[in-house]
Amino acid sequence: MAIMTPNEYLESLEKVKPKVYIHGELAEDLLKHPLLAPSLNSMKLTYAVSHRPEWQAKSTLLDGEPISLWTHPYFTKDDMMNKINLERMLGRMTGSCFQRCVGMDMISAMWSATYDVDQAKGTEYHKRFKEWLKQAQANDWAVAGAMSDVKGDRGKRPNQQQDPDMFVHVVDRNKDGIVVRGAKAHITGAALMHELFVVPTQTMRPAEEDYAVSFCVPNNAEGVIHILGRVPSDTRRLESELMDTGNIDYGAGAHETLIIFDDVFVPWERVFLCGETEHSLDAVWRFASYHRENGCKAGVFDTLVGATALAAEYNGLAQTGHIKDKLSDMLIQTEAIYACSIAAAALGREHPSGVCLSNPIYTSCMKNIGSKWVYEMVNNAHDICGGLLVTMPSEKDLRHPEVGKYVEKYLKGVAEVDTEDRMKIFRYIENLTMGPIQVEICVGAGPSQAERMVIRNVVPIEEYKELARKLAKIKND
Ligand SMILES: Cc1cc2nc3c(=O)[nH]c(=O)nc-3n(C[C@H](O)[C@H](O)[C@H](O)COP(=O)(O)OP(=O)(O)OC[C@H]3O[C@@H](n4cnc5c(N)ncnc54)[C@H](O)[C@@H]3O)c2cc1C
Repeated sequence: MAIMTPNEYLESLEKVKPKVYIHGELAEDLLKHPLLAPSLNSMKLTYAVSHRPEWQAKSTLLDGEPISLWTHPYFTKDDMMNKINLERMLGRMTGSCFQRCVGMDMISAMWSATYDVDQAKGTEYHKRFKEWLKQAQANDWAVAGAMSDVKGDRGKRPNQQQDPDMFVHVVDRNKDGIVVRGAKAHITGAALMHELFVVPTQTMRPAEEDYAVSFCVPNNAEGVIHILGRVPSDTRRLESELMDTGNIDYGAGAHETLIIFDDVFVPWERVFLCGETEHSLDAVWRFASYHRENGCKAGVFDTLVGATALAAEYNGLAQTGHIKDKLSDMLIQTEAIYACSIAAAALGREHPSGVCLSNPIYTSCMKNIGSKWVYEMVNNAHDICGGLLVTMPSEKDLRHPEVGKYVEKYLKGVAEVDTEDRMKIFRYIENLTMGPIQVEICVGAGPSQAERMVIRNVVPIEEYKELARKLAKIKND
């Protein structure tokens, strides 16, 4: 069963039963919890689309058996382009985060990172990783990518923190495996995954060996506890009417959890880095690079531009010059972001381990301009919609026997469009632009400073200076 159906995914998850706290309570049935419903719908969709041949690959580990792209390493540039296009499509279908790209990027990053440690140190991480991946492919596991540590005092290194658990680290080891302690923050989709894939959050240095650790554990491993993050307006989903959630099926984004690793035992066969500080960089930067080229942003932006264009139409201003210009700006920004993603894949390079690495210049550009333009796009969307976006009465008022008729009458835009439809599109935009998605686009896969550091290291600025010297006829500077 290398590709599960959505129902098989649900059945498989029932066996995992991770320990998840939601708003102060231990959740009894994750599959029925209203706050996880949008995430679950997106996850099911990722399984459903994987049954289309164009979103499948042939496993190199399972004798060519068809598998979904979610567990297929990027062996070629086309593999990377496929993932970008799959993500754009799912961004369009959900208008939200569909959660599986993190694990997918982690798999490709660790394919090459484990290979490099083994080459340098004679370890057997790559072999172990491939064995784990074989199981992930055979069982079509959903995998959470857990990189971000809680980090405590950002001005201090992991081994200088007052509390040593601010970064996930090894607290014990024996012949069977290691014991890890710490917490990973903001982990997307984590409550609904089969496996948690952990890598260091940053490059580790000598004396930080215990923090240079990568491993996988099943989501129900002893000592793993999730605490669900809150997002604005999340409790609207607990109301009887759901129109005010804006995106009833897929929500404002995925869910994220704070994952506690309370002395979790990891057998050696699931450990993929343990103490080799000089190799932590490979895991960190390769994952970040893949994750910065993702196509979901363009897909979600497509829905934002579409919704904003509809809002303008419903307001009777579809042909107004400045509104058409603002919509054009949004379209250009979306396509420019997508172009950077595609460039990152097309100009990637082959790694001796067999995977393709994405081009760090264009992944940095994509992430960096995306993180700024998202606010410009949101600004244009808000400007075009007007204040009703945040002052509109609720669905309950619309349906109310007394005041419903007033809401219906006074919130009408153009005569041909129902008030309810106008309210729905405003709610969609409210939900998309005032929830977690912009922050995710801004800081997910690392803060903007990280991309600046990468581009400064990769682009040959000294050569560019030389070009300028020649053109300006500077002889000795
Ligand atoms: C919706 C969402 C989903 C996410 N999903 C995932 C996921 O699935 N998996 C995962 O691993 N992570 C995930 N992340 C985490 C994301 O990668 C981090 O938020 C990001 O790396 C920034 O880390 P931080 O939030 O701790 O902010 P910080 O690291 O605290 O950054 C805040 C600011 O401080 C600056 N700063 C921090 N430390 C230093 C320093 N030492 N020197 C100078 N400046 C510094 C940064 O540049 C930035 O400007 C997600 C985040 C969000 C918002």
